[in-house]
Amino acid sequence: TQHQFDAIVVGAGPSGNAAAYTMAQRGLRVLQIERGEYAGSKNVQGAILYSDALERIIPDFREDAPLERHVIEQRIWMMDDAGHTGMHHRSDDYNEESPNRYTIIRAQFDKWFNRRVRDAGVTVLYETTVTRLITDARKRVVGVQTDRDGNGIFADVVVLAEGVNGLVGLRSGLRDELRPENVALAVKEMHFLPQEVIDARFNLKGEEGVVIEAMGTVTDGMVGTAFLYTNRESISVGIGCLVSEFARSGAATPHGLLDRFKAHPSIRPLLEGSEIKEYAAHLIPEGGYRAVPELVGDGWIVAGDAGHFVNAVHREGSNLAMTTGRMAGEVVANILTSGLSCSATNLGAYKTLLKESFVMKDLKKYRNVPKMLEEGGYNIMNLYPRLVNRAAQTWFRVDGVDKKAKESEILKNAWRAHRCRGPAG
Ligand code: FAD
Repeated sequence: TQHQFDAIVVGAGPSGNAAAYTMAQRGLRVLQIERGEYAGSKNVQGAILYSDALERIIPDFREDAPLERHVIEQRIWMMDDAGHTGMHHRSDDYNEESPNRYTIIRAQFDKWFNRRVRDAGVTVLYETTVTRLITDARKRVVGVQTDRDGNGIFADVVVLAEGVNGLVGLRSGLRDELRPENVALAVKEMHFLPQEVIDARFNLKGEEGVVIEAMGTVTDGMVGTAFLYTNRESISVGIGCLVSEFARSGAATPHGLLDRFKAHPSIRPLLEGSEIKEYAAHLIPEGGYRAVPELVGDGWIVAGDAGHFVNAVHREGSNLAMTTGRMAGEVVANILTSGLSCSATNLGAYKTLLKESFVMKDLKKYRNVPKMLEEGGYNIMNLYPRLVNRAAQTWFRVDGVDKKAKESEILKNAWRAHRCRGPAG
């Protein structure tokens, strides 16, 4: 039977938009279904946009995409309760014609991307939730059921770009439930300030931006990180920890951690006088390589957060979402324009593409990180940051103690701390 659509895409986040756009560009009839009132209405991100992934889909995106600032400075901080020790990398080279990283506001960005998707010819249904997949007698996926349409909608293939929860895949038995140790819960606020104030506070001009990634005692010994990104007239500030860590701790709440981060002496002055306008919480899949579920089957393919494509070490997610969405779209288009069927075997080309790309290579490189954090999380998140800050103080204070004695105090401290889980008093 001839279906009304070649492909149905579930979700209008970066992965769904990338897949839908790519397939429409190749001449496929695509239906995209988004449960939000508009694309981006449900989405939360820091957010840094990595240009390369989008450029491969929409080369001229800079012409009309809602971009905030291009990043010229990256700060990485290890915090104790009184301050931080950090690495700052800043370069005028980032003031280039086609900058590599931008801060963005996701609601606006997703809306823009989705408009481009519609312009490319995709039919988009908003405020519609896909409730389950429809399968035929041979268990091949042939369409979707939504909360609006009793009869179902049919297509040759369904692209599951539904984000981290992956409920459609889960309900259809295509994937397992998320495990608390594989997913972080992050909260984020937007703090508004005049542009000149942000420029002065961060030593910026024009559209230059700074991003700060932080770890340390702000997460109360739990595995997690915090961030602060400069937008044009606002600052995004957030923190996230593994769900299993919240469960283990019992006491800490995401909101409590965010308050603590904002009150930190290194952060408070940067936010002073700002007006908070938005608060949001979201999950991030952080299980890495070993948590990637089955990605293809007869009539279905998974992209983005639903496929657990996040590089938690480098804070990359939306670029992996766009890249996997694009690749899923390309594979489907290759199959359907050759007159073949979207069987699991044919869709397997997607797994090969991923394996050859930075997506799987990077996830594989960090495959042992979740285990390392499970075993040594407290040390990495709390003990080492405290030791580093203490060592810095020992080193920089000029107090009549000779440098050799300072060196041995730092080493002794590190050694003692390792044995009894805390810097010596
Ligand atoms: P989503 O963006 O989650 O999109 C899924 C879409 O599907 C949603 O619009 C949802 O409404 C829709 N949907 C879900 N279920 C259904 C259904 N059943 N029917 C219809 N529609 C449905 N990444 C970066 O690259 N840089 C960053 O700075 C960054 N910071 C982050 C900060 C935070 C606090 C968080 C939470 C994430 C961050 N990420 C960042 C990760 C990034 O946001 C994700 O990797 C990315 O959004 C994944 O895109 P996606 O399209 O796969 O999923």
